Amino acid sequence: MTKRRTAIRPAPPLPIAEVVARLRDEYGERPPRQRHPPLDELVETILSQNTSDLNSGRAYAQLRERFGSLAAVAVARVEEVAAAIKVGGLASVKAPRIQAVLREVRQRRGDLDIGFLAGLPLEEARAWLCSLPGVGPKTAACVLLFSLDKPALPVDTHVFRVAHRLGLLGPRVTPEQAHAILESQVPPEEVYTLHMGLILHGRRVCHAQRPECSRCLFADRCPARPLFESGAAGPGARAVARRLTASRRR
Ligand code: SF4
Repeated sequence: MTKRRTAIRPAPPLPIAEVVARLRDEYGERPPRQRHPPLDELVETILSQNTSDLNSGRAYAQLRERFGSLAAVAVARVEEVAAAIKVGGLASVKAPRIQAVLREVRQRRGDLDIGFLAGLPLEEARAWLCSLPGVGPKTAACVLLFSLDKPALPVDTHVFRVAHRLGLLGPRVTPEQAHAILESQVPPEEVYTLHMGLILHGRRVCHAQRPECSRCLFADRCPARPLFESGAAGPGARAVARRLTASRRR
């Protein structure tokens, strides 16, 4: 007799408002991050690519200590910039990227100040940032949210993974597309809470490998939970990982 397979029936996704409410209940209202001038935030975000917050913080501190100002970074020899940020990893990639951004800003604006972005509508400010060399939607969203207090939602590896598993993003959505999709679903005042909550949840519970579904605050309504508990999440998880790897550089 042929054994009949039990069908995996994922739960319908939670409305995003309920996701935000549960994240707030679990992790509390997150305190605002220390605010830096937007161009400093942009440089810090470039330094944070593919490394930990601790290492990128050290790299930024050493960059400031070595050169004193971003104007000095812009005209330095690229090898010196790379040496100063070595602790942040990928220094040979990040040093020319930072200098290219600084030089482009100075060429367009006449100085190294992008504070004018605060006075632009969100989409205009985002488009301006994304037109800088090597700046993608995630980097732009970090500057907009953390420095300019605009409701842009940076989609990093944790945000993308958890949102995808919770069914907030369709299976074929890329991280680049995810910014606009998630932002359009939450009121501006909830964007920061959603961003911080998804990051914390991804770090503490919904790990990339072996998520702890049994103790998860979304366990009753997560469409991905049955897939993980049945061991059927492999190929889908790998597809998500591939899309993340492709987007991580921006
Ligand atoms: S139930 Fe599992 S897969 Fe779903 S959000 Fe929680 S930890 Fe992640």
